[in-house]
Amino acid sequence: MSIEFRLSEEQKSMVATVRALTQEKFKPRALKYMDGTFPWDNLRELAGIGVLGMAIPEEYGGLDLPVLDTALVLEEIAKGCYVTAMAVLGEVGVQARIISTYAPDHIRRALLPKVCTGEAILAICMTEPHAGTDVANYRTNADIKGDRLVLNGVKTLISRVDEAQAFVVFSRIDRRPGREGIGCVLIERGTPGFECTARYHTMGGENLAEVRFDNCELPLENLIIREDGFRKLLKAFNTQRCLNPSISLGLAEGAFEEAVKYTRDRSAFGRSIGEFQAIRHKLAEMYRDIEASRSILYRACATANPFPDPYMSAIAKITVNEMSLRVTSEAIQVHGGYGFTDEFPVSRFYRGARYGSLGGGTTETLKELVGKHILGEFGPDGFLDLDIF
Ligand SMILES: Cc1cc2nc3c(=O)[nH]c(=O)nc-3n(C[C@H](O)[C@H](O)[C@H](O)COP(=O)(O)OP(=O)(O)OC[C@H]3O[C@@H](n4cnc5c(N)ncnc54)[C@H](O)[C@@H]3O)c2cc1C
Repeated sequence: MSIEFRLSEEQKSMVATVRALTQEKFKPRALKYMDGTFPWDNLRELAGIGVLGMAIPEEYGGLDLPVLDTALVLEEIAKGCYVTAMAVLGEVGVQARIISTYAPDHIRRALLPKVCTGEAILAICMTEPHAGTDVANYRTNADIKGDRLVLNGVKTLISRVDEAQAFVVFSRIDRRPGREGIGCVLIERGTPGFECTARYHTMGGENLAEVRFDNCELPLENLIIREDGFRKLLKAFNTQRCLNPSISLGLAEGAFEEAVKYTRDRSAFGRSIGEFQAIRHKLAEMYRDIEASRSILYRACATANPFPDPYMSAIAKITVNEMSLRVTSEAIQVHGGYGFTDEFPVSRFYRGARYGSLGGGTTETLKELVGKHILGEFGPDGFLDLDIF
């Protein structure tokens, strides 16, 4: 086992390019996307340097980069603009990987090159009004009728509904019950019977929406996963459990940098606030927490083959999500009352950080997963004997 952490020259160069773009352009524009405006300007610039194709195989125009590279790029974007990082997550996250891994070749050829150029945005529809975490309770169903599929159901809290061309929808196939009955279909915008039925604005800035499928007829080849959908879904989802926290990490770093800057500029009682030990210790603790989280996250990303280890990525996600909330909140504290206003970016970082533990597997359910794994893996002598530790 190697424990050396050193980025390759290619990784360093990609990070430097995205950092420059983010700091010069995305960060100054970030406030304007807080009202639900989709960051098209930023996505076009990122498509131009290949970022939207990071998860897509080279034969479809992508860069086919490992999960760690994708995480590094999302981290950099989140240091400037949470809304942009979330928009990019749609193209480099679970839906792109599901299509790349499981869709028939002609669907990949039609769709994936357009994802790389930013012409096609992807959405993923899993959550239902009565069942988010409780995946086995999905009611959305696709009936197979000869060479057609008929899709019915409601999905909610879906990202990018107003922009996406293609929606990866998890549903029952032929009304089969339980987790085993879950598969996955692809539906395109404009399909008759498919409509947006509600919109929600979030504290992070982006919009979410509810969509309804009312007897939507699709060709049978749009059935991307027919058998064993739940297991395949969970495997692909381990990628999201590394990419979601990479955004949390970037938000914490962005807030930390702002806190350091403010500490240098602000005086109270005739001294720089950096001369107060209480503030210096806050900065030290924030830095400690960021670096500890970075180590665990990069290590989880490095387990990907092609999907990351489920327990390592769950532990990384819990750790980084919780750290990000703490650090962004402390960054506001360092700013005093101004930190609570839109005049400084720290309040945006904090609002974005609140998302982390809700999406991609909630903290509560991931702790359950890890806890059960630990108990199952304890040897008879009571010693912890896990590869992941
Ligand atoms: C910004 C944002 C973007 C999103 N984008 C998408 C998207 O694009 N597509 C999509 O499908 N969904 C999306 N979601 C929805 C998200 O995936 C769900 O909110 C998430 O899966 C949780 O489901 P829920 O909201 O129904 O909560 P619930 O599952 O109802 O959970 C409520 C609470 O109960 C806890 N809980 C539930 N089950 C257990 C258990 N077994 N043990 C312990 N605690 C438990 C949860 O941890 C949580 O605290 C998005 C959400 C947000 C905030």
